[in-house]
Amino acid sequence: MRIEQNYKLDFKDVLIRPKRSTLSSRAEVNLIREYKFKHTAKTWRGIPIIAANMDHTGTFAIAKVLSRHQLLTAIHKFIDPNVWQQFSSEHPQVIVSCFISSGISDDDFKNLQIIMKKVTSEFICLDVANGYTQHFVDFVRRVRAAFPEKIIMAGNVVTGEMVEELIISGADIVKIGIGPGSVCTTRNKTGVGYPQLSAIIECADAAHGLKGLVCADGGCADPGDVAKAFAAGADFVMLGGMFAGHDETEGEIIEKNGKRYKQFYGMSSAAAMMKYHGKVADYRASEGKSILIPYKGPVEDTVLDILGGLRSTCTYVGAQSLKELSKRTTFVMASQQVNDVHGK
Ligand code: 5GP
Repeated sequence: MRIEQNYKLDFKDVLIRPKRSTLSSRAEVNLIREYKFKHTAKTWRGIPIIAANMDHTGTFAIAKVLSRHQLLTAIHKFIDPNVWQQFSSEHPQVIVSCFISSGISDDDFKNLQIIMKKVTSEFICLDVANGYTQHFVDFVRRVRAAFPEKIIMAGNVVTGEMVEELIISGADIVKIGIGPGSVCTTRNKTGVGYPQLSAIIECADAAHGLKGLVCADGGCADPGDVAKAFAAGADFVMLGGMFAGHDETEGEIIEKNGKRYKQFYGMSSAAAMMKYHGKVADYRASEGKSILIPYKGPVEDTVLDILGGLRSTCTYVGAQSLKELSKRTTFVMASQQVNDVHGK
């Protein structure tokens, strides 16, 4: 047994120090980024925020709104190929901003091949709770070999050496985060995890050294956290809980004691396992929870709130574009984040 003595940080442990700036208005801030990818001769331009590939948030209805603002959506993996095909033919301009998600079984691979024949999306998201297995690395290699022209995002991991392994094996973007998610119980069930801000800083460094990119996934509770993730070096940020509870998410509105909610659950929760597999296997602990999240109305309002927050962060540190934010950031360690005397 070893102990890593360096203190690792989460979003709640830091604030971004303001800096002298010549920007006069938030409207001057450019949030569009342009990326080239390690394994594919492609260029993508847009605002690098992605709706999570959870069945509640990774929906075509979310994608329609997010794509209007040049954001991306990782469509969840339980969509039938024929539904993909129909949406793709009706909304070709939206589909180009969607990730096709897949697990790592042989059936998942076959399903991915079928969907890829039917739609024109450039993005694949290979997603497992634990990205540290050789089986996962082999799967990334297999998908890279089958789709040399596609942009592949793979995860999740939280350490530099595994980021390097996945990039070398064919990933263009590595997804970072074990245990920070809003409906995740991995840390409670297993004791495994890594403070998310430090994970982003360390993994971005490893990825950028190989011309790879990282996507910070999980733990953003408000726009300030999204800004901290970008400031820490994330190239993309994935959001589940912040996009949950809107009109465009999956599920009905539930009324309880005069208030409106939507059900939101982790993809490894007992609720998700029952829905898609009909049971929770004996050998598996559920590593997600199911909650009622207050109903939030149209997702467009939340998108604008996040983008407004990000522009404001950039003006506070004098960054004219999102690309400059991380270079202009000094984090200060903080023991208190906000004054919550009147509640949050
Ligand atoms: P959030 O933005 O809600 O904090 O985090 C979203 C992320 O949580 C997802 O993109 C995914 O990586 C992770 N996640 C979703 N469902 C589960 C689950 O059931 N268990 C765990 N451990 N993580 C989950």
